[in-house]
Amino acid sequence: MAGEPQADCLFCKIVSGEVPATVVRDTDTTVAFRDINPQAPTHILVIPKVHYPDAASLAAAEPQIAADVLREAGSVAVDEKLVETGYRVVFNTGSGAGQTVFHAHAHVLGGRGLNWPPG
Ligand code: 5GP
Repeated sequence: MAGEPQADCLFCKIVSGEVPATVVRDTDTTVAFRDINPQAPTHILVIPKVHYPDAASLAAAEPQIAADVLREAGSVAVDEKLVETGYRVVFNTGSGAGQTVFHAHAHVLGGRGLNWPPG
């Protein structure tokens, strides 16, 4: 069923605690944890607890939870003191754009200069 945990999904396993992660924020609907391969001094992933393969499908099915993910991305930036210097929130969507884990997630990146456009 849509939104249900998927047995083969790494991020569903982080939600359930089966795979450990360095969790920095946890709400009823979302989890935020440090990326295992950080691309910036601060690199945190914010995920919905429900399983949707990407941000667009999450937003279509569960707009409130998609809003929760965005709100939590902003809270991560506050917690990590990124607001003054700036930060980036990225949803890679599709393998051609670099998505490797097909459970919706926001990357929150900051703590260094961020070029535009991204590569
Ligand atoms: P994507 O490439 O799908 O946009 O982002 C997936 C992210 O998940 C990557 O930045 C990758 O480093 C991160 N990642 C992959 N496996 C793990 C893991 O087991 N634990 C954590 N914390 N992050 C992971």
